[in-house]
Amino acid sequence: MRVRKRKGAKEHLENNPQYVIVHPEKAKGRWQEVFGNQNPIHIEVGSGKGSFITGIAAQNPHINYIGIDIQTSVLSHALDKVLASSLPNVRLLLADGSSLKNYFADSEIALLYLNFSDPWPKKRHEKRRLTSITFLDVYRQILPEKGEIHFKTDNRGLFEYSLASFSQYGMILERVWLDLHASDFEGNVMTEYEEKFSQKGQVIYRLEASF
Ligand code: SAH
Repeated sequence: MRVRKRKGAKEHLENNPQYVIVHPEKAKGRWQEVFGNQNPIHIEVGSGKGSFITGIAAQNPHINYIGIDIQTSVLSHALDKVLASSLPNVRLLLADGSSLKNYFADSEIALLYLNFSDPWPKKRHEKRRLTSITFLDVYRQILPEKGEIHFKTDNRGLFEYSLASFSQYGMILERVWLDLHASDFEGNVMTEYEEKFSQKGQVIYRLEASF
């Protein structure tokens, strides 16, 4: 996602430490203390402007959610949504998905979401795809033994690549949707990209895979 730089975005994040975790390395292994309860923790890597993470957190008050994005401006928009909703079960993290082992202990995360990840279509950029082996190595570590990844995209090429990548990694494809919006899937929470692309008539793919 390319986003216009937002003036004051960094300060906005820094001024809201109750929602934006400033020193995540200190929270490693102690996220339940951060949330003040023992509820399971679900994360979205590449959470964009936060529609999904705030929407799903409102639906599930007994799960804790962390939205993670690498871009300051994008995350500052997600912060606006978190502030407006004043949800107690959401936190935000400015971080690269490849560095999550620094911030989460083994098995500390119960479920991981990837929504409309950047496709990086060129073969030489394969390693940047959030469903490549580089990232799966990281996710496997912070998820429990049979932990799950739930992935949505409109991008057919990325979906095909990810099916193969998960499979080559030895993961189990628990469920696959080739047209999510035409299915009987209940409780779907739309992301910003999902709204945009489905309005244009694009099909939305979804899968649930476990290690
Ligand atoms: N999930 C949102 C945004 C999708 S765009 C939606 O569905 O609308 C992809 C997002 O992933 C962008 O906001 C981008 O900044 C973020 N991103 C890309 N690479 C990342 C990485 N390595 N770690 C964390 N976030 C990343």
